[in-house]
Amino acid sequence: MEKLLTRPIQYLKGIGPRRAKSFDQAGIHTIEDLLYYFPRRYEDRTSLKRISELIEGQVQTIKAEVMAQGQRRAFRRGGLNIIEVVVADESGKIFCVWFNQPYLAQYFKVGTQLILYGKVERYGNRLQMSAPEFEIILDNNGDSLNTGRIVPVYSLPSLISQRVMRQVIKRALDEYVTSVNDLLPYDLRMRHNLLNVAKSLINIHFPENYEAQKQAYERLSFEEFFLFQIPLALRKLKKKEKAGIAHKAEGRLLDKFISTLTFTLTNSQQKVINEIKADMALPRPMQRLLQGDVGSGKTVVATAACLMCIQGRYQAAFMAPTEILAKQHYNKISSEFIAHSSLTKQVKIGLLTGSLDKKKKEKIYRQIKEGEIDLIIGTHALLTETVEFKKLGLVVIDEQHKFGVGQRALLPQKGVTPDVLIMTATPIPRTLAITLYGDLDVSVITELPPGRLPVRTLDFSQGQATKAYEIALKELAEGSQVYIIYPVIEESFALDIAGAKKMYGQLKQGLFKEYRLGLIHGRLKEEEQDEVMRKFKEKKVDLLVATTVLEVGIDIPNATCMIIEHAERFGLSQLHQLRGRVGRGTKDSFCLLISSAKTQEAKERMEAMVKYSDGFHIAEEDLKIRGPGEFFGSRQHGLTELRVGNPFTQMQLLRNARDEAIKLVNLDGRFIQRQNMLIKEKLLQRFPEYETLMLVG
Ligand code: ADP
Ligand code: MG
Repeated sequence: MEKLLTRPIQYLKGIGPRRAKSFDQAGIHTIEDLLYYFPRRYEDRTSLKRISELIEGQVQTIKAEVMAQGQRRAFRRGGLNIIEVVVADESGKIFCVWFNQPYLAQYFKVGTQLILYGKVERYGNRLQMSAPEFEIILDNNGDSLNTGRIVPVYSLPSLISQRVMRQVIKRALDEYVTSVNDLLPYDLRMRHNLLNVAKSLINIHFPENYEAQKQAYERLSFEEFFLFQIPLALRKLKKKEKAGIAHKAEGRLLDKFISTLTFTLTNSQQKVINEIKADMALPRPMQRLLQGDVGSGKTVVATAACLMCIQGRYQAAFMAPTEILAKQHYNKISSEFIAHSSLTKQVKIGLLTGSLDKKKKEKIYRQIKEGEIDLIIGTHALLTETVEFKKLGLVVIDEQHKFGVGQRALLPQKGVTPDVLIMTATPIPRTLAITLYGDLDVSVITELPPGRLPVRTLDFSQGQATKAYEIALKELAEGSQVYIIYPVIEESFALDIAGAKKMYGQLKQGLFKEYRLGLIHGRLKEEEQDEVMRKFKEKKVDLLVATTVLEVGIDIPNATCMIIEHAERFGLSQLHQLRGRVGRGTKDSFCLLISSAKTQEAKERMEAMVKYSDGFHIAEEDLKIRGPGEFFGSRQHGLTELRVGNPFTQMQLLRNARDEAIKLVNLDGRFIQRQNMLIKEKLLQRFPEYETLMLVG
């Protein structure tokens, strides 16, 4: 039966080679693809607005008849072609205009019935829609797919109209929907009150009413979450069975390290260290995500984990996304170790970055391979094939969101089931983390070291920029250091934004001429970057003009003020990361946003920055503003593949789906039962990369 669904869509009446090609280009190849190609939105055409009832400023749908049309050229606007169409219903008339699409004129013959969807505006006493979406109605009474109901609106493949799309989908539903196998077993559906698959597919495309649409959406989201959670549940199960290294997690090196720290660990740090300790001591590979806001002190926790590994004579690898950060970790950990002679004697630390010369690299490669280096800190340079370990026991990945999934997976492969600790300062709510990274265990640092004051965040318009600069000058006068961040290195006239390089020159001659300025950006040579960072750290530079090379990790507690120019050009999580560079000491700190937010979304971002100082809140806001696809980006596996479900708005549904996935995997991890064989088939089709996971029983 199922094979019917993998038929090419040309089997459908109305689809010849030309249309099939359009669909192909849109990724719709089979009947099944078509059935699962869901509407972008819906239009309620059960009760269309009368023109006289339209409300200005709102996006609305009307049905009207073409009364007249004309075309003109606006010479003042570069010869723009304008089509104007007057349409009317029995209550009034409205103008519709389209720009530079002269070919549209053919559709607007006098007497044509149209459905129009767009924003209504008023110019003088003239009501107008600019470039509305439109559809031609052929037969007022017989056109049941396109009028008198809730109508689906699709993102269209080229050359395909809404009406053709609806017709084709309707045919596919009529002929094939009964052949779709329901992946969700009956009892599961009953437990969660979910529609069957046929009814869901019908109602997601042609809902009887909004309630039915909602139920269909829920059911299809559940199915998607469920499928997505199964591989995670399987991985978790397999991991439990897999042999790993039982580290000597308790030991002298760790105790020495903690006792010689110049500060006391927070309770939260202590708690996560214990979680890691317990996990590393077990003879199973640890897969742990460590979440903690910027400045919460994740690096010491990671260092402690490295020592748990090293005191049993295994090697640890610590990877960071930028050279600046890798070097900072190297320097900081080295200096922390100096406090105790047994640490310097027994732990040999190495640094591997791309900019080392060939000879130095080769020496490091050799030392790693022969086990001379116990703790290797580095960038993605650690991933090169030439890097081989003698006895890799632990992999730490800092700022994991900066690495691709593929990259993250590479480093552990250089050992035999080493433990893995990945760290992130772009936290997501715990429940969401558990469900999305279902195969990972999660540890969370929930507090900042004592004495930290929230960074005072203020939002200035371009016109008020001098106020921000006055605050910076005051901080400098008190002996604190300042960052000024620009979104680009060179200015761009087209975008009207200032660049770091030129502004550095101007600021140095102007406002800040009494101070010592430094400039850092990604196009400087490594040695130059090092030099600037060293000077800033040693307080030989007071003010650092920078780009986002400073975004993650940098830790200089004497810097108390950051100005972010063109702040509207940064994402919310990115702004929060940048802000995390200040407020790392006990002094009052400032984050001063200078923005010209034009879109609503940009305004929301600035407001969220001012309102929230806590990274979990920020992440939640960011998720709300951007939605999960954008938030997680293409780098986070799986999420971007979610086509229907939204983990943020459907958290409970996601949790239920996860529970069911775990249940299934525990009961029938080899997919032997008949109904589960269907699931397996579907999984292999959708996530072929999990084949071994599913086949190796
Ligand atoms: P992040 O979690 O952003 O990576 P870091 O590990 O860079 O934060 O730590 C930020 C700063 O706080 C560092 O200078 C670190 O030495 C310091 N720090 C870490 N833990 C504590 C603590 N318990 N008390 C005081 N300072 C701490
Ligand atoms: Mg860090």
